[in-house]
Amino acid sequence: MIIPKKQKRYCNFCRKHTEHIVEEAKRKPRRQNTKSQKRFLRKLAGYGSFPKENPKGREKPTKKLDLRYKCTVCNKKHSIGEGFRVKKFEIKAKEAKEESKAKEESNVVK
Ligand SMILES: [Zn+2]
Repeated sequence: MIIPKKQKRYCNFCRKHTEHIVEEAKRKPRRQNTKSQKRFLRKLAGYGSFPKENPKGREKPTKKLDLRYKCTVCNKKHSIGEGFRVKKFEIKAKEAKEESKAKEESNVVK
């Protein structure tokens, strides 16, 4: 699946259709200062047990794709929907640049 890098989409903050830049959401490390995370780490320390059952079985063959859309006018990011599963994907810049490059090459040949 090929996704264009620049898309015209509706921005909730500008309340109109603007140009958006598509990027994949980065995974942030887990916060260590929450009550539940402290409880979890306390349980893991020493000769304890794992508080939850370990997930078993094979991994899913596809991963869910999480995309963020950044508005070029207000520079705010937002997501659309819940994401979807894909095997392969690629964020591609618009082909206008490639076309111009091809034109330049053709000019060089002449
Ligand atoms: Zn906006």
